[in-house]
Amino acid sequence: MSEIRKHYFLEEYCIVASGRSKRPSAPKACGDEKRSSSCVFCAGYEDKTPPATAVYKNGEILQDSDNENIKNWDIRCIPNLFPALSPDADEPETSDFTVDRGYGFHEVIIENPFHESRIHHSSDDEILLLMQAYRDRVNYYQSKDGISYVSLFKNWGQKAGASLEHTHSQLIAIPLMPSCFTREMDTIKELDKCPYCDIASMENDQERYVYGNEHFVVIAPYFSMVPYELWILPLKHVNHISGFTDEMLFSLGDCIRSAVSKLNETIPELAYNYMFFQLEHETQYHFNVRIKPVTSITAGFEKNTGIYINTMPPEVAVDHLLNRD
Ligand SMILES: [Zn+2]
Ligand SMILES: [Zn+2]
Repeated sequence: MSEIRKHYFLEEYCIVASGRSKRPSAPKACGDEKRSSSCVFCAGYEDKTPPATAVYKNGEILQDSDNENIKNWDIRCIPNLFPALSPDADEPETSDFTVDRGYGFHEVIIENPFHESRIHHSSDDEILLLMQAYRDRVNYYQSKDGISYVSLFKNWGQKAGASLEHTHSQLIAIPLMPSCFTREMDTIKELDKCPYCDIASMENDQERYVYGNEHFVVIAPYFSMVPYELWILPLKHVNHISGFTDEMLFSLGDCIRSAVSKLNETIPELAYNYMFFQLEHETQYHFNVRIKPVTSITAGFEKNTGIYINTMPPEVAVDHLLNRD
C-alpha cells in the first residue's frame, strides 16, 4: 500500500509506502576509520594539496597568505584539485547552447585536522567554528564578481559521492541562478505569506518533529523524497546565512550535529548529503538545510518522472530516530 504526497507548496510529488517499514540494514562502513596513508586532508600533509584559500587557527582566519606552511590548524579551506568550475576557465568554442565559459570557484572545507573525526562528535566550539567558516566562505564567494549562487554541501560516504573519507564540506560558486530556486521563488511570490514559516510552526510539535532548540527545528518533512530525509528550518524568517548571529550559527550547528547523530545511531555509518538552501538577495526566501540519506539508488522511474518512491514514511522514520518503536 502506498500514497501519493504533494510538496507543501510546489507542484512536486512523491510516493510514500504506507505500510510499516523496516529500518534499512546498515550499509557497509564508509571505509577504514584509521588514517589512510594517502589522505592529503590529514594534518601534516598540507604541502600535498593546493595552497589554502583560508585557514582557521586559534580563533583567527588566515587568508591568502603563506597558508601551506601553517600547521596545527582547526579548519582548512583549499581549492578543489579537480574543480567543476574555475576562475580562469578558457573561453569555450561557442555553440548556440553555450551560456558562458566554466567560470566559478570550487572549494573544499576540511572540517577537522583529524582523520577519525565525525561531525556528530564535534564539541560545541568545533561545531560553532564550522558554521562560522560556512558563513565566511559563502559570504566571500557570494561577493565575487559574476557569482549568482553559492552552493554549500557535504557528501558523507562513498554512496553519497564522497571520494575521500576525511570529513569535509564543499562549496561551488556559480555564475547563474539554479532553475529550482527560480521556480520556487515564482511560487513563493504568489503566496500571501512564507510557506516555510508555516511549515516550521506546523511541524514543530507534530509527529514529524525530530529536534529543536532556540532558533531552529529539525523535521522529517511530510513530503520526504528519500528515507530519513530531514529538514532544518529557522523558526524566525531569515533568507541567508550572512544574516546569522553567532548564537544562531551555534543553534544551526547544534541541529546539524543532533540530526546526523540520530541518523547515525539509527543506521551506523549511513551515507548522506546535506545541502544549504538560501538566497542572499531574495528576502522572501526562507533559509533551510536538507539532509538526504542515501539508502537506495535513483532508478529509472525517478529519472523519468522526477517522482521519488520512498519506502520509509517520515512518521515511521521519526519513531526510529527517537527510539519510539
Ligand atoms: Zn585524513
Ligand atoms: Zn519564512
